[in-house]
Amino acid sequence: MRLGAGPPVRRADAAAQDDVRRANLSAVLRLLHFHGPATRSDLVASTGFNRSTVGSLTSELVKLGLVRERPGVVSGKGRPSNVVEPVSTSVHVLAFDVTPSSVGAARVGLGGYMLQVRRRLHSTSPHDVPAVVDLIATLAREMQAKSVPGSVCLGLVVSVPGSVRQPDGMVRRSPPLGWHEVPFAEMLGEAVGHEYPVAVGNDGDLGVVAEYLRGAARGKQDVLYVRGEVGVGGGVVVDGELLKGAGGYAGEVGHIVVKPGGRVCSCGARGCWEAEVGDAAIIRAVGRDPRESDIEDVLNDVAVGNRRSIAGVRKTGEWVGLGLASLVNLFNPHVVVLGGSLGALYPTMEPTLAASYSRALGPIREQALLVRSDLGSDAQLVGAAEVAFADVLEDPAGTLGGRSDQEPELLSGT
Ligand SMILES: [Zn+2]
Repeated sequence: MRLGAGPPVRRADAAAQDDVRRANLSAVLRLLHFHGPATRSDLVASTGFNRSTVGSLTSELVKLGLVRERPGVVSGKGRPSNVVEPVSTSVHVLAFDVTPSSVGAARVGLGGYMLQVRRRLHSTSPHDVPAVVDLIATLAREMQAKSVPGSVCLGLVVSVPGSVRQPDGMVRRSPPLGWHEVPFAEMLGEAVGHEYPVAVGNDGDLGVVAEYLRGAARGKQDVLYVRGEVGVGGGVVVDGELLKGAGGYAGEVGHIVVKPGGRVCSCGARGCWEAEVGDAAIIRAVGRDPRESDIEDVLNDVAVGNRRSIAGVRKTGEWVGLGLASLVNLFNPHVVVLGGSLGALYPTMEPTLAASYSRALGPIREQALLVRSDLGSDAQLVGAAEVAFADVLEDPAGTLGGRSDQEPELLSGT
């Protein structure tokens, strides 16, 4: 999957005219999708295409129903340039985020507009896979019923906190959900009657895609994202491409060992980073019992200035900094984005986190900026939506002209 707006491709080869046209159409649509409405003059300036090329590409996108034009505002001399904007009701996608407590859902229109967002608690236990599939299918039907007649659903993508095999969306293992070898994409496809393509992605991967395209890491080419939750997930963008690994499992940062002989982790090993900085570890560090309290209790304690809680969170911050230092040594990112509970607690952890991070890293720390997630708990929904939009952004006319049953290509590079 090509991420972001990127530079337009221009080739001189006459035989590749179709490719050039497709790439140019893609460049204009990407700009509008990621950056919002623009005048024709803006598009000329951003793409480097001449005025008549922009005019003809715009007309083709208008014909496809993906964008519309309205007269621009007169300012200064001359004719105002038309404003081109994405039509959020032309095509849409369905995005889902499964966590141990709930399922988040969004219907997202072209341009990244969240047309509908909802979150429902699991009706039984998250371990009950058929119940989760039913819940997602029900939410999908409800959201489809609200969509504007004629709007094309390009696909449904679900974020899961676990190792997800690509391209078939088999969840190999998700300790937070208690899943093992679940053919989740297949089950979902059946549940929605194969009406549109279905894909499943890892929460860390979708989080980094979201922060890279629309969040705290916008404009940076090398990004590390870490989401603290019941488990600790991560995702990595290297030089503008999502790092996938041989089987799609790259970025499982929660299970790097930071404390040999430490606590037993949900994966069965000892001393994993997750066992030291996951929600349960934080809850324990503030003197609460993870069976009786959740991370919201910790956030509330910290918000009212409870000293014991602040000290416990800061103690955890040392382990967060240590793990981040190892990851920054591996990937040398421009920016590290902290999401989930780690993002929420970052301001409290900052002094101890920064100290252990700096100690472990030395001079290269200056290159990797630590920031909180911009998108917060929406990151996985935003990332899932962008995966579902990838095909139409890559080839607008081909995708809408000859829609096929192909699954969205979650983790492929181009
Ligand atoms: Zn582990």
